[in-house]
Amino acid sequence: MSGDYEILTDYSKRGRERPWQRHKTNSLLLAESFARLNKLSKSDRVCNCGSSLKFNVCPNGHEKKLIWSNFCRVRLCPMCSWRRSLLVAHQIKQVAHGAVTGEDMKGKKKLSVQPRKLRWLFLTLTIKNCAGEDLPDTISQMTKAWNNFVRRKEIKAISIGWFRSLEVTQNYLQKSYHPHFHVLIGVSPSYFKGKDYLTTERISELWQSCLKVDYMPITHVRIVKGKRNVENEIKILEEKGIEVGESGFSETDLSGAAVAELAKYATKSEDFLIYNKYEYKNVDRKGKMEFLPDLESGIDEERTDESVSVLDTSLSGRRLLAYGGLLKDVWEELKATGELQDAEDDNADLVHTSDDNSKCICSVCRSNMLEELYSWVPGRHQYIKKENHQEQQ
Ligand SMILES: [Zn+2]
Ligand SMILES: [Zn+2]
Repeated sequence: MSGDYEILTDYSKRGRERPWQRHKTNSLLLAESFARLNKLSKSDRVCNCGSSLKFNVCPNGHEKKLIWSNFCRVRLCPMCSWRRSLLVAHQIKQVAHGAVTGEDMKGKKKLSVQPRKLRWLFLTLTIKNCAGEDLPDTISQMTKAWNNFVRRKEIKAISIGWFRSLEVTQNYLQKSYHPHFHVLIGVSPSYFKGKDYLTTERISELWQSCLKVDYMPITHVRIVKGKRNVENEIKILEEKGIEVGESGFSETDLSGAAVAELAKYATKSEDFLIYNKYEYKNVDRKGKMEFLPDLESGIDEERTDESVSVLDTSLSGRRLLAYGGLLKDVWEELKATGELQDAEDDNADLVHTSDDNSKCICSVCRSNMLEELYSWVPGRHQYIKKENHQEQQ
């Protein structure tokens, strides 16, 4: 390669590469689909999303922190979905922490809410897969069912606070959509031995009755364990691309796996960028197989456009995240004091997704950070550094 230009490399402290190039590439594929669907202004916005990235960089190579970009905020945009999921992950941690400790994450501010000792129940609530044309109604049915679910006596008796997010995946082979809720419920530590304890079966029955369906919907219930391996959880988070910021991560916080699951906001590009060829591939050392696209085979335009159209229509104008009870009180208080931003707000700041994004001093060597600007160069499919932007030391 020529030494004329420098390609963006951005690694977390633990050495994971931040996937700028992958998300930018997928955003461009989405922009092409919007253009074919004649949604031209959306196409333009997504096409330009993240075309420039400005970072604060440690001169000794310790840290690189995004300080500015032009994100488009279109709901399906893969780049913005990634940024939003980081924001949501940070937010859930902040809110859960506030509910348990009665303080903000920095431990500097007392909240007005009464903190509670909590254990976390973690539910996945589903409904039968549906056809694309039925997706909007199916999502509405689920939202309504949820509102009834949390008003049921048995749920009210156990739930001190809750958080809920909607995810929609697509079953590529069956050409069907799978909307489902990831739910977090904070319960009292005595719940597991108390008279109000609900079996998975009972939770399924309640969910079925709220959905008003004649089959038993699939429901998963997990309990976040009391004894935890924090180091392992940080690893899980990092594998999902969610970094543990300066504010850290401790046993009083929500488990890493739960946060990663809950932050799976809305929909992933795999669920609407459909390729011509798929094959089973080994995805880990344990021999787990997944049905994955052969990227070389190119985009199946017809199916991609159909999926983009279905998901764009079905998700637009909806709130996909919701809080209730104690978690809602904490969320609202943190939002009112500016400690936390609403990830679904049209003006959400997708640059500063955690507390430690905006510092100008390297946390490792205390050097002053330097600004670096990178631009997406379409012909090279890479972010390339603008040399003349580098500041003098
Ligand atoms: Zn975007
Ligand atoms: Zn440094």
